[in-house]
Amino acid sequence: MGQILDGKGLADLLAGKLQEEVADLKEQGIKPLFCVINIGDDPSSKIYLRTKKKRAQEIGIAQRIYQLPANESQADLLALIDQLNEDSRINGIMIQLPVPEQIDVNEALEHINPEKDVDCLTPSNVGRLWRGDHFVEPATAHGILALLKHYKINLRGKNVVIIGRSSIVGKPLAALMLEQDATVSILHLKTKNLSEYTKRADILVSAAGQANLVTSEMIKPGTVVVDVGINQVNGHTVGDVDFKTVAPKASYITPVPGGIGPLTVESLMEQVVKLTRRNHGR
Ligand code: NDP
Repeated sequence: MGQILDGKGLADLLAGKLQEEVADLKEQGIKPLFCVINIGDDPSSKIYLRTKKKRAQEIGIAQRIYQLPANESQADLLALIDQLNEDSRINGIMIQLPVPEQIDVNEALEHINPEKDVDCLTPSNVGRLWRGDHFVEPATAHGILALLKHYKINLRGKNVVIIGRSSIVGKPLAALMLEQDATVSILHLKTKNLSEYTKRADILVSAAGQANLVTSEMIKPGTVVVDVGINQVNGHTVGDVDFKTVAPKASYITPVPGGIGPLTVESLMEQVVKLTRRNHGR
């Protein structure tokens, strides 16, 4: 049976440290403040907003949620972003995804001041990520690396296979893992024969959003399995990995829930604090 990579436990541990850091900053008169823009009423977004709010409160980070109507215009959204960019009390801005169809999300993201871009999604921050001189990191990728580091799982020379090429998970994770000398393959829906790649993985990350996508026949014994997926099946939250059959073959495996999810939220708070320090020249 593979050892459980306890994301929730690590997230709680790191949140404790971050809480102390925030208390120190406040003693110096620096108050981290971040804003989330939510457009419309996507049900999953509501859950994520609640989780972020709770974590921010625990750590001592002030948070503002701008709830905009589902028919919000692009012009009004850009005007709000301008206003938040100009407000020197605000250290971080993020747009909760997904957004309604009429919104050009790329244009909106480009509008965010990169110095306040907690999600690391502005073009200049994405460029810095690939160039290796970034000052902010996408939360999920950062959380995965923190978990591997905590369990002393080294990336140098390892074959890493990532299922999923989204801008928020697969691509930035590949950039950060390359930086740590892993050999990275990114798989997607047009990849022919996933198993051909996954069987060669020392570390397999699944971020596809498809329950039971990864089965035991797809991995070699001793693989480190990181399950990013969040899927609802018969009222239960499950990942992309068929945990029951994969866990006995893996060396390490993340559970869902309790794996990458809590670490993503904690890592987001770390980015807020990082940007706050940077904005104050600390
Ligand atoms: P997207 O839908 O944006 O991307 C999914 C990616 O997976 C795409 O690149 C898609 O390929 C690929 N994919 C989907 N199905 C398959 C398949 N059968 N075989 C190969 N590739 C496949 O999703 P996100 O990246 O936003 O999220 C992925 C999952 O991770 C979701 O379940 C989401 O809820 C979860 N998530 C969890 C987080 C956490 O904190 N635990 C944080 C963020 C996301 P193609 O590009 O060809 O369409």
